[in-house]
Amino acid sequence: MIKDHSYFETNPTQLVMEPTISDEWESNRTVVLMGHMDTVGVDDFGAEQAMAFKPEEWKAHLEGETLPEAVQDQVESDDWLFGRGVLDMKSGVASNIYLLTQYASNPELLDGNLVFIAECDEEDGSHGILSALKTLKRWQLDEGFEYVAAINADFVAPAYAEDENRYIYKGTVGKLLPSFFITGEKKACRLCFRRP
Ligand SMILES: [Zn+2]
Repeated sequence: MIKDHSYFETNPTQLVMEPTISDEWESNRTVVLMGHMDTVGVDDFGAEQAMAFKPEEWKAHLEGETLPEAVQDQVESDDWLFGRGVLDMKSGVASNIYLLTQYASNPELLDGNLVFIAECDEEDGSHGILSALKTLKRWQLDEGFEYVAAINADFVAPAYAEDENRYIYKGTVGKLLPSFFITGEKKACRLCFRRP
């Protein structure tokens, strides 16, 4: 072996092994699939908070409720799930996992790279994706990843009642969450005050 020669034993850095460029892996183009695992709170489930994360139980419970017609149809259909986090956004993360495993099983179909990110925090301060940026940057430098798209599979909502369209948004969005706290003192109104 060349490396066993005394000269190269003394100068080992002069012997390098260069990986060849593979035909299959020429592209560094990289798509980021991202989504978040956290949800907002469940206070709005009231007395039924225990069912918030149990889609089957929650759906069975809803079947006994008086609901708007469109929701009633969905409750009775096998095509819909209900519960906190089902829409926002574990269904999106599930779609991304499906894509990831499809390409992991058939890597020859992909000319480039996929990065899958499941973030622990979006609903608070987006600390999940902000933390992931370090790793994305490192792979850009070390692996030569060229990020061409980031797909956030968070939910999209109908633009108006009975809107059947499914929207795909492109570009970037910022996030601003204004809140208003209004308080006051309840006073008896002179006009409607009546003596008993
Ligand atoms: Zn979300």
